[in-house]
Amino acid sequence: RQLLAEAGVAVPAFAVADNIATAVAEAKKLFDAGIKEIVIKGQVHAGGRGKAGFVKLVTNIADAEAAATFMLTNKMVSYQTGPEGLVVRKLLIAAAEQIAKEYYLAITVDRTRRTATLIASAEGGVEIEVVAEKNPAAILKVPLHPILGLQAFQAREVAFQLGFKGKQVGQAVDIMMKIAKVFREKDASLVEINPLVVTPADEKNPDGRVLALDAKFQFDDNALFRQPAVGKLF
Ligand code: GDP
Ligand code: MG
Repeated sequence: RQLLAEAGVAVPAFAVADNIATAVAEAKKLFDAGIKEIVIKGQVHAGGRGKAGFVKLVTNIADAEAAATFMLTNKMVSYQTGPEGLVVRKLLIAAAEQIAKEYYLAITVDRTRRTATLIASAEGGVEIEVVAEKNPAAILKVPLHPILGLQAFQAREVAFQLGFKGKQVGQAVDIMMKIAKVFREKDASLVEINPLVVTPADEKNPDGRVLALDAKFQFDDNALFRQPAVGKLF
């Protein structure tokens, strides 16, 4: 989320805690500020956290403490980790967003075509591997030009194909252009947002807001010599 925020992508505000007391204190701050529902996530270098119990929505301090305790004292085991799982050392604590619809958005390297490729689907939130198997037509793939990168007309086409409407289109295009930029600037091999969400319409945002709720990055480790900031994340 920090990398996305630095790239100018809309992400919800968040705090990070590396122990239960801090997690509870951060949760309390949000509840005291009048927020009704918060999300606690185990920060690990693997996805599939939701199903493994490492993404929890809570509405009171007791549940926040229980979620933080569970996540910091159990290994996160998902289809992306193997049976040994991963120790969770950090938690993300944030106001929960309301979700009207979830999308999938990523830029990665297509080794067969030898290009960076934008991958997008209106069937987000779930495991993209499952969508790829069961409904491959629901996944859009757009190869990126080696020098020009993602071009605005391509991003607009994808936004329309995904079914974004009204003011959502510009927001989705903006996010696509920015993740294409951060992919290149940080020597990433994967920038994945799943889910990219549209929030429900409200008075200020009649078309809702387009936000990145989840982020997964992989980097080309051959490039770490020129990416000291990225190296510190490992
Ligand atoms: P992953 O399971 O590792 O991909 O972790 P995510 O951060 O994507 O969370 C898993 C799922 O939890 C998402 O696909 C959402 O459906 C849900 N979720 C995550 N953050 C929020 C939030 O702020 N609000 C709501 N309502 N749901 C969320
Ligand atoms: Mg996810």
